[in-house]
Amino acid sequence: MHPSPYQMALAQYDRAVKSLSLKRGIDEFLRVPQRELTVNFPVRMDDGGVRIFTGHRVHHSMARGPTKGGIRYHPAVTLDEVRALAMWMTWKCAVMNLPYGGAKGGVVCDPKQLSPRELENLTRRYATEISPLMSPEGDIPAPDVNTTPQIMAWIMDTYSMHRGHRVPAVVTGKPVGVGGSLGRVEATGRGVMVATREALARLRRPLNGARVAVQGFGNVGRVAAALLHDIGARIVAASDSTGGTSNPRGLDPSRLRHHKEESGRLVDYPGGEPIDNAALLATDCDILIPAALEQQITAANAEQIRARLIVEGANGPVTPEADAILAARDVAVVPDILANAGGVVVSYFEWVQDLQSFFWTEEEINQRLERLMIRAFREVAAAADDRGTDLRTAALLRAIELVADAIMILGIYP
Ligand code: NAD
Repeated sequence: MHPSPYQMALAQYDRAVKSLSLKRGIDEFLRVPQRELTVNFPVRMDDGGVRIFTGHRVHHSMARGPTKGGIRYHPAVTLDEVRALAMWMTWKCAVMNLPYGGAKGGVVCDPKQLSPRELENLTRRYATEISPLMSPEGDIPAPDVNTTPQIMAWIMDTYSMHRGHRVPAVVTGKPVGVGGSLGRVEATGRGVMVATREALARLRRPLNGARVAVQGFGNVGRVAAALLHDIGARIVAASDSTGGTSNPRGLDPSRLRHHKEESGRLVDYPGGEPIDNAALLATDCDILIPAALEQQITAANAEQIRARLIVEGANGPVTPEADAILAARDVAVVPDILANAGGVVVSYFEWVQDLQSFFWTEEEINQRLERLMIRAFREVAAAADDRGTDLRTAALLRAIELVADAIMILGIYP
């Protein structure tokens, strides 16, 4: 049986923390979320009936600033998963040196089974239920799996209705017309592209013609595939939850996207051969980008991975057992808290712009994002070389040290 996502996050933490001499209280404090809220709430459905849904919002640490983290809508959401994702957000914000702590939210639901009106009702009620924890100064949600700019707009509008005035900075990933940032939709995928480029340079491998397989063709995977294609890589396989398509001569990401938008699936794309998700992960390629959900590369399939480089677009796609197998096979892994941090970086830019009511150009945003990604990647890579560790441990060490420092400076109240 797999460890749960939170057990996985703790195993990664324990592995990194061994080489730090943290005070015992700090070590224990960082292993647990600071706050958790579970809400059960009614939603009026289109047939006139009422259904009860369950959601969570977890703050892992607010030592370095307001908490930040996405909201996920998925039938498999659990409190345990939200805890893990919140902890990873703490580390991600620290690795990128953003003035934020970590949080995450989720609602147990299948948005594909909900009408637009039901989705709006669910979103507005969930936003109201978690509003004691949410504010521009305290906790700022953002999109994650199955949540969209429109859903962020409903959250912002609901919060604003209760305040009596517009509060755009309470959530990021909004549409540009209501205080969103240019470049936010593409930001995570763009960051994955930059991290991939940096990782290849570190491994002294060429980008031009590098063969890439992407698991998950949503906000992160789709954009990463398109941007890597634009700079010369070859996308040889891509998948979504219903299966995938492969073509060793290369797939055109914009046609793939068009096909997915038209038919809702990739598996019957005419320019490739249908494959299932197990085959996607074992594709003969140079770079594998898991950009779907956690725990996709495990002890059961790590031996079958043929890529030499894995760039974690998703959060937690590689289990600690798989990490060990991949390391023994000399497969490099760029960890989630670094590789997919582009989203939270531009969310930070969006929040800053909203607070100032002063908006930047897309070029400015992309340049700032690229600078931050490159700086963080190189700092983590240098730390990995210095300490003789892998990139995940180096990134975690850097993050944990920064958060622990903040806790030490603040002291214990009262
Ligand atoms: P999304 O809902 O836009 O897309 C998810 C994609 O994964 C969809 O194409 C879905 O069909 C596919 N998928 C689901 N289960 C799958 C499976 N078993 N095999 C293959 N594909 C599967 O979500 P997203 O925003 O792109 O998020 C993807 C991952 O990236 C998540 O782990 C999320 O936490 C992480 N992430 C997202 C952001 C962001 O800004 N959206 C930022 C950082 C990290």
